[in-house]
Formats: sequence, structure tokens, C-alpha cells
Amino acid sequence: STYQLENEPCRFYDDSLGKQVDREQSLDDSFKSAIRNREFKLYIQPKVCPNQNRTQGDEVLVRWQHPEYGLLFPGEFIPLFEQNGKIQELDFYMFEETCKLLKAWLAEGRAMPLSVNLFRAHLISGDMSCLDRFKSIKEAYQIPDGLIELELTESLMLERREVGVVAGMIDCIRSMGFLCSMDDFGFGYSSLALLKDLNVDTVKLDRQFFVGESEKSWIVVGQLIRLAHELGITVVAEGIEDKSQVEKLRQYDCDLIQGYVYAKPMSVPDFQNWVATQ
Ligand code: C2E
Ligand code: MG
Ligand code: MG
Ligand code: MG
Repeated sequence: STYQLENEPCRFYDDSLGKQVDREQSLDDSFKSAIRNREFKLYIQPKVCPNQNRTQGDEVLVRWQHPEYGLLFPGEFIPLFEQNGKIQELDFYMFEETCKLLKAWLAEGRAMPLSVNLFRAHLISGDMSCLDRFKSIKEAYQIPDGLIELELTESLMLERREVGVVAGMIDCIRSMGFLCSMDDFGFGYSSLALLKDLNVDTVKLDRQFFVGESEKSWIVVGQLIRLAHELGITVVAEGIEDKSQVEKLRQYDCDLIQGYVYAKPMSVPDFQNWVATQ
């Protein structure tokens, strides 16, 4: 905005940019108190098996119940926290909250696998200590193996030289009793070769495949599902909004579907009600 002010006299000054910068600054400043006041909330979206119409695992997504700005979506604050490194602490917080929820569900005898998103820097650093921390939190809450899946965005495989490091981290994650999925597959620069190099349990086909889908995109999706299955990988289709897509995915043998067609991400109480009505 300084640049703008120098080059354009005041008559062109638009306050909305200033407001946006103020808001970013204020979100950044209030991170610590937001953690302390438990303003970050778990929202849960089911992944549904199209054949049985039953949920098999659910994804945890963060929302910020901000005292001044209301309910905020990750698109507004995650990029900010990625830039300044606060994302690490947020991911640990969300992970621990997820373990607490699972522990409560286990006590009630109705635990379902939950997946948690992880920021890429956790992994490309090649630093195993963050994985140790996830493991010790999981153990502190006595969560059995195979109940938590870690979702890694595919964009993390951007640079070829990182593949070896990431492959090692993924093997380590799985040896700790977590499942591992590749999120947003097909969105960025994914290459099919990744599927042979990385030992993931699940691949999530990005929503991008299904917006304005054409005959051609269905051919690609169909072949990707076949390929993944031959490699022993489960396939989730993300961002599915209508029934005709569900029908097609069922024909193509897609394992799980996540999207508004079944449910939007819900607060924990709303999610529990949703499950009860299924
Ligand atoms: P993602 O992991 O790919 O999550 C799926 C996103 O697609 C979610 O957006 C979800 O609300 C949205 N979605 C699901 N079904 C549909 C649909 O049918 N139609 C449309 N239009 N959208 C659908 P959300 O919750 O805004 O999250 C955005 C991204 O933020 C996530 O993408 C994930 O990468 C990131 N994220 C969310 N929570 C966390 C977190 O706790 N830690 C980290 N590191 N990243 C997170
Ligand atoms: Mg995800
Ligand atoms: Mg995704
Ligand atoms: Mg996505």
C-alpha cells in the first residue's frame, strides 16, 4: 500500500486494502490467545462408501471461531500461518484435539477413523522430530494404530529432489501406526510416478477433476482409480456435489466419496447428530 500511496495521490486511495492488511495483522497477533482460548474448532466431513452409503472415516478441518470476525475458513488464515511458521503449532493443536475426540468416542464404543491435514513443511524438512511429537501425543491419548490418517498435500512433491525425503517420512509415519494419504492428487504437478515412489494407503482425487467434468476427465479418473487399485491404494473422490457423479464413481469402483452431496463439514455436535440419523 505504501507503493500505491507514493505513486497515486490520495484521490485513488482505497481503504479496503488497508483494512485487509489490518485484519491480517490482527489475525496474526491474536494467534496465541486464540490457541489459549480454544477458538480453533474441529469441523468434520464424512467420507462415504457409495455402495453401502455408510461413512468410513471422516476428515477433520479447522475453523476459527473468531470473537470479532465470526467463523473463519482455513483459506483466510492457513496461508498466513504457513508464511510465518505458526502452522506447525496449529497442526499440533488440531492433532491433539482430534486425539481427545477419538479417546472420548473410544470410551463410548463408537470410534471412527479420522484424518488430519498436515502442512508440507513438516515433511520436506526431513526432520523426524515433529513425527515423534505426533506419535507421543497419540500414545498419551492411547489411540490404537490405524485410527488416525495423516493427509499430505500432493503439492509437497513439487520438487523432484524432495521425493526421497518425503518417501522416507511417509514410511516413518506408517511405521508409527498412522495411515497416510496423498491429498489433492491431480491438482498441481502430480506425476503418476509418485504413486510408485510413495507408500501411501490412500489417494484423494482433487475436486478439480469433477468441476465442469468432461468425457475426457472421466476417462482419466477411471484409469487413475484402476491404477491405484492395482497398486493397492484406496481412492477417495473429493468435492462431489451431485448424484450423477456419485453414480459414475460407483461404476468406476471408487472406494469413498467426500463432498457436499453427502454432507458439508460440520461442528462436532452436528456431526454426531448426522451420524445418528444415518
Ligand atoms: P482439503 O484437505 O483438500 O479439504 C477439502 C476442502 O474441500 C475443505 O475446505 C472442504 O470444505 C471442501 N469441500 C468438501 N466437499 C466439497 C464439495 O462438495 N464442494 C466444494 N466446493 N468444496 C468441498 P476447507 O475446510 O475450507 O479446507 C481447505 C483446505 O485447508 C483443506 O483442503 C486443507 O488443505 C487445509 N486445512 C484445513 N484444515 C487444516 C488443518 O488443520 N491443518 C492444515 N495444515 N491444513 C488444513
Ligand atoms: Mg485434506
Ligand atoms: Mg483435499
Ligand atoms: Mg482439495
